[in-house]
Amino acid sequence: MRDVADLLATVPTGLWIGGEQRPAVGGGTFAVHDPATGEVLTEVADATAADGRLALDAAVAAQASWAATPARERAEILRRAWESVMARRDDFALLMTLEMGKPLTEAQGEVTYGGEFLRWFSEEAVRINGRYTHSPSGAGRILVTKQPVGPALAITPWNFPLAMGTRKIAPAFAAGCTMVVKPAAETPLTMLLLGQVFADAGLPAGVLSILPTSRAAQLTDPMFEDDRLRKVTFTGSTGVGKILLAQSASKVLRTSMELGGNAPFVVFDDADLDAAIDGAMAAKMRNIGEACTAANRFHVDNAVREEFTARLTARMQSLKIGPGHLDGVQVGPLITAKQRASVADLVADAVAKGAKITTGGAEVPGPGWFYEPTVLTDVPAGARILREEVFGPVAAITGFDGEAAGIAAANNTEFGLAAYIYTRDLDRALRVAEALESGMVGVNRGIISDVAAPFGGVKESGLGREAGTEGIEEYLETKYIALP
Ligand code: ADP
Repeated sequence: MRDVADLLATVPTGLWIGGEQRPAVGGGTFAVHDPATGEVLTEVADATAADGRLALDAAVAAQASWAATPARERAEILRRAWESVMARRDDFALLMTLEMGKPLTEAQGEVTYGGEFLRWFSEEAVRINGRYTHSPSGAGRILVTKQPVGPALAITPWNFPLAMGTRKIAPAFAAGCTMVVKPAAETPLTMLLLGQVFADAGLPAGVLSILPTSRAAQLTDPMFEDDRLRKVTFTGSTGVGKILLAQSASKVLRTSMELGGNAPFVVFDDADLDAAIDGAMAAKMRNIGEACTAANRFHVDNAVREEFTARLTARMQSLKIGPGHLDGVQVGPLITAKQRASVADLVADAVAKGAKITTGGAEVPGPGWFYEPTVLTDVPAGARILREEVFGPVAAITGFDGEAAGIAAANNTEFGLAAYIYTRDLDRALRVAEALESGMVGVNRGIISDVAAPFGGVKESGLGREAGTEGIEEYLETKYIALP
């Protein structure tokens, strides 16, 4: 394995603004921790509002020439960035494991997935189309073209430090937008390394800025009042998303919001239980349960509930917990002590209201923020865990009787990001998939994210779609030119 000290020595720790690394105005820094040990990995520059203004200045200065850069050239830069991420796969993977805690094999998977957005949107960059038609009245001609939205601000979360960045940066660049990225304070290192990759790939100065900060709102609040910013793209909690939407109203910014989820995992009485258990483990435990697509509620037909619970319990018990870079580890630490406390709170609430623990249910003593893989059964309707995203390795199981009750249970939430269903009946699968109030439905699959598919939610889970052929539209304006 790559030596940790060697790797950290190669990662930039300054702000990335205007094509160069620089300290924060005022010289502040903050510490990045390893959640498996609680120890400090390194210090990075702590961006201020003044740095935000400098980054926006650089983005605005670069916007016109970047938009005018031939799409093929923009595509080639994205393609080279993809090649470079792949060439540095081991560095990116280890860095994500260190700052975020996920097992190394999952971090390697994220390098492939996150890198793929660079390749996919390099291919989309050259396929931005318009149309030319005649008015039905015969009064004129209609020319429709697409133009870049303009300078964009991306605010990203810590759970997928690479992919949540590239899913925004790649379509923005493909469309011809410049971008200021504010990564999560917990995981800024992956994004800073990506900045270096883009510089090496020949990205012009100012097109990308990267501003880690320990005071997010102080950095970004003034940007929402700046006429020059045209777009905000955010992945994170629904609470923060609502604040950013309100702030976006001031200048009527274009917004893309990937917010919280509360994904139901619905197992019908005709499900293939082997497949359902495999799918449940993937949908629950990928990323230690810290994914907005993670299965949060398991609704299982009472005909198969006991067997499903027993088998899921056995699988959860068999998982190996530990620091993500160690061989064979399947469950890493949670991101912070606060996150672990919030998971413990939701479990305590469910148990106080009558849920039973079939495995787990406790913090792992020792250094780091580990929590045992946990299964709760007989979770009563009033338990908070059925309404709130647990973001941890806890599966909450409830029973239902019949298809209609399963659908009603699944839709009983203000969220609507992902949903999972298990059934062997194709008619039922289509019927239920259409009835579910969510942006994405997995049928007999526990992992649904795909670079070529539109990712996004309905209800309070968000606005807009990332990836797929839809993703680039979030960074394009439609212009109509009326002709005689
Ligand atoms: P989580 O609970 O997963 O950390 P958050 O929604 O709190 O999710 O954070 C997601 C991202 O939003 C992070 O980069 C965080 O720094 C940023 N953020 C949080 N609050 C604000 C805010 N008021 N203004 C701008 N960014 C914010």
